[in-house]
Amino acid sequence: QVAVSASALVKEYGTGESATRALDGIDVQIFQRQFTAIMGPSGSGKSTLLHCLAALDGPTSGEVRFGTDDLARLSDNKLTRLRRERVGFIFQGFNLVPTLTARENILLPLAMAGRKPDTHWFDQIIDAVGLADRLHHRPAQLSGGQQQRVACARALVARPEVIFADEPTGNLDSVAGGQVLGLLRQAVDDFGQTVVMVTHDAAAAGHTDRVVFLSDGRIVGEMGHPTAAGVL
Ligand code: ADP
Ligand code: ADP
Repeated sequence: QVAVSASALVKEYGTGESATRALDGIDVQIFQRQFTAIMGPSGSGKSTLLHCLAALDGPTSGEVRFGTDDLARLSDNKLTRLRRERVGFIFQGFNLVPTLTARENILLPLAMAGRKPDTHWFDQIIDAVGLADRLHHRPAQLSGGQQQRVACARALVARPEVIFADEPTGNLDSVAGGQVLGLLRQAVDDFGQTVVMVTHDAAAAGHTDRVVFLSDGRIVGEMGHPTAAGVL
């Protein structure tokens, strides 16, 4: 089944003479329970595509569907709920709240949705991210790798259908990067979630089921199988 799809997706920044066409007619289907990587040179539109698929940014034209929902037809309330309840986003700069502890940061999406944490689930995630002894630290007291793992745990905790990750290993050494990729892999294999990751790193892409290549806002190639898992 298709988790998210785009058809004839165009995204321009600015208007008139100075407009930049970041996405120039993207057709793509992201399948459920798959780990998909989006690769391409800097400026090719990877982050923009991720933001559009995650309903964080609206297209200039074309259509994005989340499951069967056409995003353009959702009310603002429904869009907000979709972002909160069905989407997890791991930002490049981690986006942790500096005044909150690791534990509070991780539980923030649940708190915002007015949901109580499932203690067993929380413990399982903390175990997987290896942060049990860092829960009461604030972001500034954590290494880059630990901060990124907090961001991953935060994206996992509300069990969103789809996790979008923008260069999740970008600032990490290979050990910490491997841990983060392992977690995302686990989200797919053990927790049945769907993961879409932007990366520059061919080694990172090796953990995925499928790689989609972008250049100048277009899809120029693809590796792996669009529906079967574990092919790469
Ligand atoms: P990538 O993630 O592959 O590096 P981006 O999606 O960030 O590519 O950017 C694609 C193009 O759109 C680039 O030319 C970039 O400069 C431009 N762009 C991205 N975000 C903005 C923005 N907020 N305003 C103007 N131009 C932007
Ligand atoms: P990436 O490293 O994924 O390519 P960027 O560094 O291009 O991401 O973008 C980081 C932020 O800056 C994003 O919020 C993006 O929208 C914004 N941005 C990127 N290019 C431009 C631009 N040319 N003008 C204004 N904002 C931009």
